[in-house]
Amino acid sequence: MVLQGIDPSDETPVVPGAIGPYAPIEMNDKTKITWIADRLIETYGAPTGRLHDPIENLVLTILSQNTNDTNRDRAFKSLMKRFKTLEDVRVASLGDIASAIQIGGLQQQKARSIREALNRIVKTRGYLDLEFLNDLAPHDALRWLLELPGVGPKTAGIVMLFSFDRPIFPADTHIRRVMSRMGLVPERGDPHPQLNQLLPADSLLMRRLHLLTIRLGREICHPRKPECVKCPLRCECVWTRSHDSEHEDVVTSLSDKGGIHL
Ligand code: SF4
Repeated sequence: MVLQGIDPSDETPVVPGAIGPYAPIEMNDKTKITWIADRLIETYGAPTGRLHDPIENLVLTILSQNTNDTNRDRAFKSLMKRFKTLEDVRVASLGDIASAIQIGGLQQQKARSIREALNRIVKTRGYLDLEFLNDLAPHDALRWLLELPGVGPKTAGIVMLFSFDRPIFPADTHIRRVMSRMGLVPERGDPHPQLNQLLPADSLLMRRLHLLTIRLGREICHPRKPECVKCPLRCECVWTRSHDSEHEDVVTSLSDKGGIHL
């Protein structure tokens, strides 16, 4: 029987395993990572923001190591209150820099990295400026940054992407966790080569993906007890699928032994 006014051919087919309107489809890793970006933008909206001064960004990113954004910002504010300019920081004593940034932790190590990085820039350029990186090919500029003390792939990538608009994707601990649970990178090791190989060379997309994946990692995909039921990536997540099936196995096994009543 056809109900009046309803054409059965209009019905959306039900796909087993679909969650909400987002049906799993066959994806390779490259389509999956852009799907993740699209889903996060749909969920949270596209973040906007200007490009940052490269040297400030470099110092801020060194200060962000092993601390949260609030303490990073407090450390930077305290540094600039004490010294006024980054040129003053460059010629200050390590002890004075360390005491100005101690709220962010690891102050001795960070003070040394900041001062040495600033000195290396001046030694190379004659003054405190990184704009010359604009004239280099992205990977040459990245290599130059990676030679600075205390600068690894994440810090160098943040400067390249958020100051020079170059399509180099930086990954922090939240991004590594989410991408590993999504099945795109291994749990250990440097995720940068793989993620950069999967992503299209689109700096705007990379900035959005970077910021939104960190947000997802902080708010939903916690290191322990991720809240998968709330997650917009759930239908394509390898981790949640395997943990759901572990849960089902436990339930089935207890049920077989008469230990649980369904
Ligand atoms: S489904 Fe769960 S494990 Fe997977 S990305 Fe989302 S919160 Fe993380």
